[in-house]
Amino acid sequence: MVITHTTSGKRGALTVDSHQQESDPIDGLKPSDHCAVVGYRGGDQAYPVLLVSLKTLQHRGQESAGIATFVNSTINVRKGMGLVSEVFNDKLSDSDSYLSGNVGIGHTRYSTAGTKTMENAGPFLVSNSLGHIAVSHNGEITNADALREEMMRMGLTFLTSSDTEVLLMELARDITTYGIQNGIKIAMDRLKGAYAVTMMINDRLFAIRDPLGIRPLVMGNFGDNFIVASETCALDILGATKIRDVKPGEAVEITERGPETIFVRPAPRTAHCMFEYVYFARPDSVIDNVEVFGSRINLGKELAREHPVEADVVIPVPDSGRAQALGFSMESHIPYSEGLIKNRFSDRTFIMPTQDARKKAIVLKLNTIKSELQGKRVVLVDDSIVRGNTMKHIVALLRNAGAVEVHVRIGSPPIVAPCYFGVDMKTRDQFLASGKDMEEIRKEIGSDSLGYVSIQGLVRSIEKNENSLCLGCLTGNYPAPTPEKAKTPRQKELESFSS
Ligand code: SF4
Repeated sequence: MVITHTTSGKRGALTVDSHQQESDPIDGLKPSDHCAVVGYRGGDQAYPVLLVSLKTLQHRGQESAGIATFVNSTINVRKGMGLVSEVFNDKLSDSDSYLSGNVGIGHTRYSTAGTKTMENAGPFLVSNSLGHIAVSHNGEITNADALREEMMRMGLTFLTSSDTEVLLMELARDITTYGIQNGIKIAMDRLKGAYAVTMMINDRLFAIRDPLGIRPLVMGNFGDNFIVASETCALDILGATKIRDVKPGEAVEITERGPETIFVRPAPRTAHCMFEYVYFARPDSVIDNVEVFGSRINLGKELAREHPVEADVVIPVPDSGRAQALGFSMESHIPYSEGLIKNRFSDRTFIMPTQDARKKAIVLKLNTIKSELQGKRVVLVDDSIVRGNTMKHIVALLRNAGAVEVHVRIGSPPIVAPCYFGVDMKTRDQFLASGKDMEEIRKEIGSDSLGYVSIQGLVRSIEKNENSLCLGCLTGNYPAPTPEKAKTPRQKELESFSS
């Protein structure tokens, strides 16, 4: 079987300067999600719908963006490095013929596997005897290296370091050999890890979700137009009605009649990523039937019950801690206020090689409202701490503004282990909480007290069964095998302890 990559077309070979991953001094030290995926089929042109969807899902990846549509018996791809508005900045009109098809997929990327280069930007496309196959992928294939080696031994060539190319090549060769239904089934048996996928085979649109349902994927419609997206906020912005989530282990074809299940691969449990509810997803999204904003309010309430404190005001770290801070205030009856203001327009691409540079960046990015802090006992709420530097500087900022006490409350349990399922947390050194007790962490960030929500409190807040969530980075106990070579001695220790 000959597979030819045709990842650029007339305008697909767009050259855009490499856009560095955002090193935002406030949010840049938080874990980052892998990608957003979208897919569309309908009577209207795909491009404007996909563009709006990708812009709505920009929070899931800012490194690259791309759109593929079926036009005149081929699939055209346009992609580049940068934000959606930077890649598609020439206001391609509906009448532009290059992306004028009625079926398409789109992608925004934050790399967790593969390098940050144009070659790894999605969607990915191959051509073979079936025609053209394109995929957008959110997640991470944990056995990508083994599958790549196996396929290379069989004579296939790879052009990129991305696990998405491995996923595409696996799907392409299995579908070509065994047909669509059996081919997808066989590919799903072989692909391990996390994948929420939109796929085109010529002008046919498919949605596929891994058996654990680690990353979200939802379908909706407006009239006879059908949309698949990582989050419901993309459906809302289009005025679409949610049909349902793609089920864990399900492969769906979106036909002119709507979603038609090809099959559901049964699994004994699900493992929805708890971080989608804590931090990644937009608060206005509903993921697997749970509203993200409501979960965050619940987390704040849990925090207030688990770690009460006498204080005068509850202040969020903007913007990530806002919903949890509101929940804390509602439960504790301590007034909520804004004491930190973020400059949304400061340089997005700070290069911060040193502690000192990071500190200066935080000063440029955040300012205090002194009247809300002077002489007050402050509860400072955020959704998570990965590395402690940012929190340490924010605590110092509040004290400089006159706060007499600063009590830090975190709306998720401590992160102690890496993620292998599409989140940029790979080395244990990245985690403030790894190997430290609460008092050591409190001292490091310089607060008067510190409280994290418990794992039980987190599970209650998301209102799902513990066995339906992935809690791997909180416990070191993963719902699926992780790549052997990526394991640290501590992880092996944690895994053997918990099994
Ligand atoms: S390990 Fe953590 S971040 Fe990764 S999928 Fe599981 S819960 Fe999400």
